[in-house]
Amino acid sequence: MEIRADALRENLAAVRASVGPGPRLLPMVKADGYGLGVAGAVTALEPADPWGYGVATVEEGTQLRELGVTKPVLVLSPTPPGSEEIAVEAGLTLSVSSVEALRRLVAAVEGAGRQAAFHLEVDTGMGRAGFTEADVEAWLPAASAAHAAGARWEGCFTHLHSADEDDASVQGQWRRLQDIVARMPPGHDPLLVHALNSAGALRCPGCAGDLVRPGIFLYGGSAGGGLPAPRPVAAVRARVVHVRPAAEGTTLGYGATYRSRGGERWATVALGYGDGLPRSLGNRGFALVGGRRVPIIGRISMDVSVVDISDVPGVEPGDVVTFIGSDGGERITVDEVAELAGTISYEVLTGFTPRLPRHWMDGHGQALEHGR
Ligand SMILES: *Cc1c(COP(=O)(O)O)cnc(C)c1O
Repeated sequence: MEIRADALRENLAAVRASVGPGPRLLPMVKADGYGLGVAGAVTALEPADPWGYGVATVEEGTQLRELGVTKPVLVLSPTPPGSEEIAVEAGLTLSVSSVEALRRLVAAVEGAGRQAAFHLEVDTGMGRAGFTEADVEAWLPAASAAHAAGARWEGCFTHLHSADEDDASVQGQWRRLQDIVARMPPGHDPLLVHALNSAGALRCPGCAGDLVRPGIFLYGGSAGGGLPAPRPVAAVRARVVHVRPAAEGTTLGYGATYRSRGGERWATVALGYGDGLPRSLGNRGFALVGGRRVPIIGRISMDVSVVDISDVPGVEPGDVVTFIGSDGGERITVDEVAELAGTISYEVLTGFTPRLPRHWMDGHGQALEHGR
């Protein structure tokens, strides 16, 4: 996999241009930087000087500290009991969704004898985490009490459920968050109020509040229909390892689901589902060879896949085949692959396995220097 650090930064700049100069930027680097490699992602993003980074778990947060990140690191998913001590020790900012979790955080802060910040999540429709609006009388004082006890209440946020397709839902969720924030006890320090993911940041910049949390768009995935396209960031390529003519009736792959019509030439390529190529692309997807689009034929195996190169003369072992990316004038986007595979770009990107090396490049093809 080749990954372009400059394209990642350009996509962040497009988010900045959409929301204007006011809000802070919190690029999401969870799930190993959406599968592209978190060390590369952070190295690529640091020159843009974002306010901080967003992750899902405490382990991902401590990994950023090990990489030398000193900026705020916000852990956006609820964390299991017992992880608070590690989070406080590493100076991570937890998001909190229950009074119980607030108590555990306060205990960890008191035990460690050091400060920690938290952001309070409010459920405005996502349903999987966050305090509910119905119980606001109970948790608002609990959050204030935690603040007084040394766990600094720094932010309040919600997560959007349909920003990729629905403007009105974004406005609605944002309004509900505002209603909660308006009930904050008087005299409290101003909170960082935030809601926007990539799609929200491009679709509804007026709801940016104090901080935006873009993810997929930075990594080259579309944020939704009708929104600007990101610059492509990752290319997935592999080499032809075998070429053969296939006489009529020759069967291919597990289940022999493909049969040559005669006069075909096939190329076996060293990329399979063991590398993260979605198996559902068998007899369905495409690749690029010599600047031409060719079909993936037969089932995809763990280690190899086969493409029909009957229309591409001169293909030899060692030639490069592109599964995501451009070759000549042709291009396959991660969104096209996701669509054909019946999933979303997020799952395609995070599905690439460690066997596929990640090569980070900057500018005109120099390798990006980064840890790990
Ligand atoms: C993953 C995530 C984001 C980023 O979403 P994208 O759709 O990838 O832009 C933002 N906020 C939270 C809480 C997330 O979990």
